[in-house]
Amino acid sequence: MSASLIESESRKLLQRLRETLAAAGGGQDRLDSITHHINDSIKTDVCSIYLFRDANTLELCATEGLRPESVHQTRLRLGEGLVGRVAVTGQPINTANAPAEPGFRFMPETGEEVFPSFLGVPIRRVGEKLGVLVVQSRDPRLFSDDEIYGLEVVAMVLAEMAELGAFLGGGSDSLPSRHRFPVMFRGIGAQDGTAEGQVWLHEPRVVVTNPVGDDPDRERARLHEAMAMLRATLDELLTDELLVGGEPADVMKTYRMFANSRSWLKRMEEDIDLGLSAEAAVEKEQSHARARLERAADPYLRDRLHDLDDLSNRLLRILTGQGRDTGAEMPANPILVARTIGPAELLEYGRKLRGVVLEEGSVGSHAAIVARSLAIPLVVHAGRITTEALNGDPILVDGEDGIVHLRPEESVAAAVRDKVAMHAEAQKQYDGLQSLPAAATCGTRIELHMNAGLMADLPSLNGSGAEGVGLFRTELQFLTRTRVPRRGDLALLYRRVLDNAQGKPVVFRTLDIGSDKVLPYMKAQDEPNPAMGWRAIRVGLDKRGVLRMQLQALLRATAGRPLHVMFPFIADPGEFALARQVLSDQVERERQFGHALPSEIRVGAMLETPSLAFAPPAFFRNCDFVSIGGNDLKQFFFAADRENEMVRRRYDTLSVSFLLLLRQIVERCRDAGVPVSFCGEDAGRPVEAVTLAALGLRRLSMRPASIGPVKHLIRRIDLSALTQVVHAGLDDGVDSLRPVVTDWLARNG
Ligand code: PEP
Ligand code: MG
Repeated sequence: MSASLIESESRKLLQRLRETLAAAGGGQDRLDSITHHINDSIKTDVCSIYLFRDANTLELCATEGLRPESVHQTRLRLGEGLVGRVAVTGQPINTANAPAEPGFRFMPETGEEVFPSFLGVPIRRVGEKLGVLVVQSRDPRLFSDDEIYGLEVVAMVLAEMAELGAFLGGGSDSLPSRHRFPVMFRGIGAQDGTAEGQVWLHEPRVVVTNPVGDDPDRERARLHEAMAMLRATLDELLTDELLVGGEPADVMKTYRMFANSRSWLKRMEEDIDLGLSAEAAVEKEQSHARARLERAADPYLRDRLHDLDDLSNRLLRILTGQGRDTGAEMPANPILVARTIGPAELLEYGRKLRGVVLEEGSVGSHAAIVARSLAIPLVVHAGRITTEALNGDPILVDGEDGIVHLRPEESVAAAVRDKVAMHAEAQKQYDGLQSLPAAATCGTRIELHMNAGLMADLPSLNGSGAEGVGLFRTELQFLTRTRVPRRGDLALLYRRVLDNAQGKPVVFRTLDIGSDKVLPYMKAQDEPNPAMGWRAIRVGLDKRGVLRMQLQALLRATAGRPLHVMFPFIADPGEFALARQVLSDQVERERQFGHALPSEIRVGAMLETPSLAFAPPAFFRNCDFVSIGGNDLKQFFFAADRENEMVRRRYDTLSVSFLLLLRQIVERCRDAGVPVSFCGEDAGRPVEAVTLAALGLRRLSMRPASIGPVKHLIRRIDLSALTQVVHAGLDDGVDSLRPVVTDWLARNG
């Protein structure tokens, strides 16, 4: 068949499919008439539609040419037979000799005859596998590229029809119904807590109601118009938002490159010529890109395909007027479901959310930092949840175990509710401790402070019973903007933090960027090992303007009040001395300008690299305080990346080697007369916390939600007795103190 004949045949066929969609009747009738129209149009002997019954099973749902009795009886596992292979690989199979193909399976229940020529194409919609469309014929021949392309276009229309629910109901109850069954996702818990609510999609699915276009010229014009709008919005973004220092962000440049890509546009125009509407053409190419994305191993290529995916979504929103800001009302207990989300967007939702579930993201990502600050349960790497979930679906999130139940069965929901109730009960107990000191039965007092990073954290200062803020991470204000914040804005924010703290001490940590925390407006460094690269104080000392500006903001905010400031990631005494000098210079500058100064300035170093534990004694004497950043210290001590799931939990904080390092730090600080605290995540784990206290740490800083459980345990133990047990254990030759401490707690705690 010539290309133009195929075009007009294809358009005719698609029109018939559209009439089928519009006609009254049940899903089965529609499927039956579709197989008939396809056979008739392509002149094949068999046309069959297989749809997914569940994630692993394909079911023959309609056929013309095979035995009618086999409909809804013939089932294939994913990967089984040629049909199963098309479903797994997402690639068409075209053969003139089907029985000779690897994996061929003859299914006698479908008929006596073996049809040698076989063409199967996937039915899929934006990354979601829905089934397989197959044509077969007696005449052993290979289908042409144009015919394959044409069948893919038909499959796209079938996918849109399935999405619209066209194959449900009307006596076809045995058909698989999507988006109805419970699904469980096993992801990674990135913030503890359990939540029950309804799905709120960050990017709601766009529903294409008109997969078939009447008039290709009109559809082309619509596509061109939408492309022009897309380009205009990208240009606007480039000039307005991301133009920092005259340098457009690379990512936007790639976006624009795609938006101007001739080949992308050409493929969509070809789809339109075969009878698709503009939006169905965009989706068809997006599905292709997604399928390639899943197979791409090269991270650069994956990123580029992601960009194309994002652009396709923008284009679909323009064409359909759907998507974000559709006016849909957020449910009462929204649980945000997204492929990925930036910290700024997550902050915008703020405390309205009950939980967050991401398909991608990592435990150490910015979104995770924000979710932690907002204290909302977060699960990352939750399979393909954005294709399964619909707005308003009931959902349960267990941030502790990293499990998400979508449309859960009542029994599952009841079990999770029990867990929530147990937590609430424990929380009530902790609330009663709020105004009591964290004093052990022997009388030793431990100061419990909280970690914070947002204004929104400050209300927890009173609610949690924290004695102050032991670590205020200042990077979020930098991460969530499109340019370096101004000194005045920062000073205002820091002042509000102090006002809210009502006299309780707040330790501000200067900007800790680099590693995974990349500022959108800073030129990204292509570092082989960013956690050990140009980060934290290293950036501060090399880009002194930003450090000076931040210190000036802190000085202005604290005028007349005490200022506690610490520098992150100090690896040698020289860095601390330099940073301290920068601060002294700013104090002098403020004095010269006649600005009021803080009533007292205390300057600390964060001990996050093993090297600093071995610094000369003078270093410790020169610090006003030391704060152990256990998260980083541990990753460098064990050489185990804190964000790498394969090694993150491999080494234990209570291993004797790590505790010996901590004991040495505590002793060196004591000898130098300098106060030392611990502000890594481990401070918030009760067993770890009491062990740290037994090592001599008297100030721990943790997430606000951990203060209750830690205080509860401290108040029940004799710390002097545990101290003896811990020191004896450290000198005893065992590998780990975990069994020693937990046994002792079981007997005495
Ligand atoms: C740490 O490393 O322990 C720490 C508190 O800093 P951050 O987690 O912000 O790196
Ligand atoms: Mg750190």
